[in-house]
Amino acid sequence: MMPLRPLSLTTPSRPEETVAALAAEGAAVLAGGSDLIPGLAWEIPTCDTLVSLAGLDALRRIETEEDGRLRIGAMATLADIVRHPLIRVGYPALADAAQAVGSPELRAQGTLGGNVCLGTRCRFRNQPPLWREALAPCWQSGGEVCHAAPAKETCVAILSGDTVPALVALRAEAEIWGRRPRRLPIEEIYTGDGTHHLHIAPGEFLAALRLPAAPPRAAFRKWRTRASIDFPEANAAVSAVWRDGAWREPVVVVSAVGPAPIRVQAAESLLDGSAWSEERILAAGDLARRAVHPYDNGQLNVAGRQIAVRGLVVRALGDMEMERREPVL
Ligand SMILES: Cc1cc2nc3c(=O)[nH]c(=O)nc-3n(C[C@H](O)[C@H](O)[C@H](O)COP(=O)(O)OP(=O)(O)OC[C@H]3O[C@@H](n4cnc5c(N)ncnc54)[C@H](O)[C@@H]3O)c2cc1C
Repeated sequence: MMPLRPLSLTTPSRPEETVAALAAEGAAVLAGGSDLIPGLAWEIPTCDTLVSLAGLDALRRIETEEDGRLRIGAMATLADIVRHPLIRVGYPALADAAQAVGSPELRAQGTLGGNVCLGTRCRFRNQPPLWREALAPCWQSGGEVCHAAPAKETCVAILSGDTVPALVALRAEAEIWGRRPRRLPIEEIYTGDGTHHLHIAPGEFLAALRLPAAPPRAAFRKWRTRASIDFPEANAAVSAVWRDGAWREPVVVVSAVGPAPIRVQAAESLLDGSAWSEERILAAGDLARRAVHPYDNGQLNVAGRQIAVRGLVVRALGDMEMERREPVL
């Protein structure tokens, strides 16, 4: 491990101070630090000042709001999410996704906000500086090339946060604090460009995720090389509402195959308004596989990740249909 270069650390206790500190050049949000600190040691990314959110107690709370929505503060740890009764019972797909992150130590340290805002990853970029020096600088290093996809004009590094597809499927809303606080559907915080992958400006930070009072049923699945710790090679979540003898308003979302989660609208249309037969589930999996175009920047090769996507979507849909037919009481 390389030593960290000297950095300053500030831990404001009020939101206005946090916003002011984050507006300064070279400032970065520090949450649990489980990804940021090892990344800084390899200069991926770099910053001068860490602005810790640990002084904002409200960001740790998980509570039901007056309108029945569940508000999860961005500093709630993944371990908090895995064991919280309201999440386990009402939003089990989110608990499953949080449980799939890294290892027990990482879940105890890592936060939901850090998982949602996790920097994008690429096997050409997530390397020590000396390794990277052997290649021309890529988009993320201030250059003008993507080693994974030379024909692309933008960075295709991977959004690897496991909770992201589950939050999209559950129709979560992101609460951003800054000079002008705002709320937006979670998928809208991702730009689709791996270099600046979040619509979160300097001086802003993710404060909370809000989940609907009456959530759809949902399921999450992940593919990774080593089940004990690895980042996803692909992950997927699905959701729908069972009403009048049919699944309605389905959401099929695949992630960890590019810089933003992907909604598979063709599969959603196919699944809307019916019960799910085996043929329909398999066809939806095929549509998901065709909707994703991963690049050679993960551990698994491109074809392997596409096949994984098909399997994940099929299994998640199967989980939901099986639970409907044979509910676990
Ligand atoms: C060996 C290893 C294995 C891992 N495996 C997985 C895995 O399988 N799945 C997975 O999803 N992750 C994995 N991770 C990454 C990481 O541990 C988790 O994603 C964790 O949830 C990150 O949360 P954190 O609070 O530690 O974030 P930090 O490391 O503090 O921050 C991560 C990034 O998000 C930004 N950020 C954090 N909070 C906010 C906020 N509230 N508003 C705006 N920006 C914010 C930070 O500036 C930083 O860029 C792994 C990490 C390691 C080292």
